[in-house]
Amino acid sequence: MSGGGKDAMEEAAAARRFVVIGGGISGLVAAWRLVNQLRPDRSPRERPVEVLVLESSPSVGGKLAVGEVGGVTVDVGAESMLARRPEGVALLKELGLDDDVVHPRAASASVLSRGTLYALPKGTVMGVPVDRTRLRGLAGILDEEEVARVGQESRREVLRVTEDIDVASWVTWRMGRAVVDRLVEPLLGGVYAGNADRLSLRATVPQLWQRARAGRPLLDPAAQPEAAAPQGPVFAGLRGGVGRLPLVLAQKIEDAGGDVRTGVTVRGLTRTERGWRIETGTRDAAATAPGFIDADGVILAVPAPAAAKLLAAEVPVAAAEFGQVETASVAVVAAAIGREQLDGLTGTGLLIPPVERRVIKAATFSSNKWKWVSDETREDNLVVRLSLGRAREETVLQRDDAELSDLAVAELRDVLRREVTPVATRVVRWGGALPQYEVGHLDRVHRIREAVAGVPGLAVCGAVFDGVGIPACIAAADRAVHDLDAGLRIDLRTLVNGPRG
Ligand SMILES: Cc1cc2nc3c(=O)[nH]c(=O)nc-3n(C[C@H](O)[C@H](O)[C@H](O)COP(=O)(O)OP(=O)(O)OC[C@H]3O[C@@H](n4cnc5c(N)ncnc54)[C@H](O)[C@@H]3O)c2cc1C
Repeated sequence: MSGGGKDAMEEAAAARRFVVIGGGISGLVAAWRLVNQLRPDRSPRERPVEVLVLESSPSVGGKLAVGEVGGVTVDVGAESMLARRPEGVALLKELGLDDDVVHPRAASASVLSRGTLYALPKGTVMGVPVDRTRLRGLAGILDEEEVARVGQESRREVLRVTEDIDVASWVTWRMGRAVVDRLVEPLLGGVYAGNADRLSLRATVPQLWQRARAGRPLLDPAAQPEAAAPQGPVFAGLRGGVGRLPLVLAQKIEDAGGDVRTGVTVRGLTRTERGWRIETGTRDAAATAPGFIDADGVILAVPAPAAAKLLAAEVPVAAAEFGQVETASVAVVAAAIGREQLDGLTGTGLLIPPVERRVIKAATFSSNKWKWVSDETREDNLVVRLSLGRAREETVLQRDDAELSDLAVAELRDVLRREVTPVATRVVRWGGALPQYEVGHLDRVHRIREAVAGVPGLAVCGAVFDGVGIPACIAAADRAVHDLDAGLRIDLRTLVNGPRG
């Protein structure tokens, strides 16, 4: 395309095709934003011609999925979203799902310590006590000496941290290893399936990183968390399951003129004169001949290992960085259990730190936590979700489904100290599901974004960037669309006006 002026610019814009690779929440949000540019109120110059999502699984959603156990539909992947970040709830509202936004019943979770369950203490950030007025809540989880050590933290000298550090080292130095083992690990394990000895303080607990950088103690004498705490529910869910969200999004994308194709695996990405050539196939590479799709812009919204492969030839610096990101595999065992066996069971669930040497790391009492689940529950069965799997502990998951669910249920029985025999179980495995935000992760993310920014018509998003939670994935998708748009505008201007200088 050569020539100058408005005609060339409009011609170039008119020929635009955007392809989003990966139909998880990140890719679908990116596609939703792009497809909104198809709206007739946008000028032709801003209107992409085609928005295409390519998803390798038979269905969209990635780690957001609903499944059925004992006749009840429940989330078998992500099941809630942080409501104190705006992006998740705002998206639900934007999609017209306001009436289906729900919040967990206000009941607290517990944590297992030395074989006994205790209420999860308040006044903590990712398990780290920050409120000196609430130290009494640590009793039992920590022994007297361990609690006393926490209480003395603010009296000890604090050095200013200048470089990223792992969560365990910092918290151990300030408050003792027991805080890491018994309070931090169960929470970090819940979010990242990771290990406090490797996870980055800066990336996973930014609030505490700020204090460490400023040379302030964790138990800040000046802080008044009670008064300063934001109001409103911490978490939100969706009636019928968070796993409904990608299905609604995909439908909306198609209704707005986009195209969501499942069962299409992207096998290669090659730069062409005007954009990208995408090589497609199916998951079984040998079963189909490759197909090719040309695109002006590509948003890559796949997990880090897939991104590393797809960028290896064209953006090797980014590919190498993606390749360095470790992932943790996890599994969910959903169990339908007779109501009489769980009689009197209160709370939303329990957390189990690795130091307790159990295979299950959490149990969510879904029927207690979510009213919509208890409304759905039939034949007097309640649903409990058991979570398994931590980074570098894949062997636990190598059992077959029956063995894995038997083991998980046996542990639940032990921990609850009551007879539990489910009427039905369902095992859902999430291989390589959670990227590990290890020390230096944010610098890595910066290097990836920098490398990609130098490549016109390409943007990246996904759980590896700004947080693994749903709202963070939405934010990263928004940013990718913005980056792609900005990159293409510059490119287009160069095309029309010729290079500067
Ligand atoms: C068990 C579990 C529970 C969780 N619970 C919560 C929770 O309660 N709250 C919360 O906020 N977060 C939770 N998370 C984290 C959150 O669900 C994920 O971080 C988020 O959904 C990731 O979305 P994504 O779109 O970036 O990636 P993914 O969901 O992984 O989507 C990427 C998609 O790309 C596709 N793909 C990969 N390679 C290719 C290719 N070559 N061609 C085409 N398609 C490809 C994949 O099939 C996949 O569908 C949980 C995660 C897990 C595993």
